Amino acid sequence: MTTRPSTVIVGASIAGITTAESLRRAGYDGAITVVGAEPHRPYHRPPLSKQVLTGQWAPADATITTAADGVDLVLGVRATGLDTGRRVLLTTDGELPYDSLVIATGVSARRPAVAGVHTLRTVDDAAALTAALDGASRALVIGAGILGAEIAAGLSKRGLAVTLTGRHRELRFGTIGPLLSPRLVRLHRANGVRLRLGVDAVELRRDGTVLSDGSEPAADVVVTATGCRPNVGWLAGSAVRIDDGVVCDTAGRAAPDVYAVGDVARWAPAPRVEHQQHAIEQAHAVATTIVTGRPPMHDIVPFYWSELHGTRIQVYGRLDGANALAVVDGDVAGGRFVALATRDGAPVGVVGWNLPRAFREARARLAPIPADLGERQLVP
Ligand SMILES: Cc1cc2nc3c(=O)[nH]c(=O)nc-3n(C[C@H](O)[C@H](O)[C@H](O)COP(=O)(O)OP(=O)(O)OC[C@H]3O[C@@H](n4cnc5c(N)ncnc54)[C@H](O)[C@@H]3O)c2cc1C
Repeated sequence: MTTRPSTVIVGASIAGITTAESLRRAGYDGAITVVGAEPHRPYHRPPLSKQVLTGQWAPADATITTAADGVDLVLGVRATGLDTGRRVLLTTDGELPYDSLVIATGVSARRPAVAGVHTLRTVDDAAALTAALDGASRALVIGAGILGAEIAAGLSKRGLAVTLTGRHRELRFGTIGPLLSPRLVRLHRANGVRLRLGVDAVELRRDGTVLSDGSEPAADVVVTATGCRPNVGWLAGSAVRIDDGVVCDTAGRAAPDVYAVGDVARWAPAPRVEHQQHAIEQAHAVATTIVTGRPPMHDIVPFYWSELHGTRIQVYGRLDGANALAVVDGDVAGGRFVALATRDGAPVGVVGWNLPRAFREARARLAPIPADLGERQLVP
């Protein structure tokens, strides 16, 4: 008699759920268990700082709809350890044996130590932040990366007077930040967001902050967006190597029959990436490896997008060190264009500004992606 193989996936968010779906789609007929620490049905995080923050969606609209059959979803249970010798996952609800284990525990936001100051990583954070907006008229957002910019734009759309502060002189937008910064600055200013760049928040309060230039902007709501840390504490003492996330080979293997996908995973030599589509593509790849025993050959290139003040910004490529943007389609003055990013003259990526179809075409010309790796649609 043969026993069914089993795969245990740790983390019930986009990377974990997509791994389960991809396993089934690839014909895996073993048992699949997904263990997730949060008590909620799995949900998409990108809408939290967009449609949910602006009030267009209820939090439930961000739920991940899954088509995978026969997946055991164990919610509200936390992994506490991994014994690769015995092939057992330790959890707050007992031990789970596995044949293959997939780590998809993502990252956690750096949380402010001051009560009443908000951040935005989970659906509970979104509920707390939107509840705090009742009667508020001024908001202060600390951290001028992509998430801080989205929160500032969302709060501005809700009618609050928003100040966005950041320690760098430019607005950051992933690795393409410095090249896009002047355009991002104009976009925020045109939509009424006040920018305070090149300053540190030296003292945080629930009603404002003291900045390193001595000024003290006051606010009814304060939100920090100052980065995240990989959720790897539960792996301490295991055979898995930790160094800014779970260190894997180029196919996502962290130890024999142990894989890592999504924000928590670092597929060396590439750096760790915190973007939704990247998590999805890693999940597809690891599912293929588990089912066929062979990793797919294609390279996973970072792709991300954002919505700021009604402008859709899309970025594809490995853009570290990119030093020029050349417009290849659209009309810059009209606020719709696609640009090729180059490093010392060599193309390294594509940037789309409110021109999604032309962006997709330019991206495909730069490096065709397999047809089965389409972007996952968010509902509704
Ligand atoms: C507000 C917001 C907006 C975003 N917008 C965009 C965007 O526009 N575009 C884009 O590309 N990306 C965006 N992102 C990033 C994107 O959401 C992430 O890349 C994606 O969620 C990563 O998925 P993941 O499954 O790897 O990790 P996560 O979504 O972080 O999920 C990890 C899950 O594992 C669980 N977990 C952790 N530890 C344990 C444990 N010990 N046991 C069991 N479960 C555990 C966590 O509770 C969590 O549910 C955004 C993120 C946020 C927060």
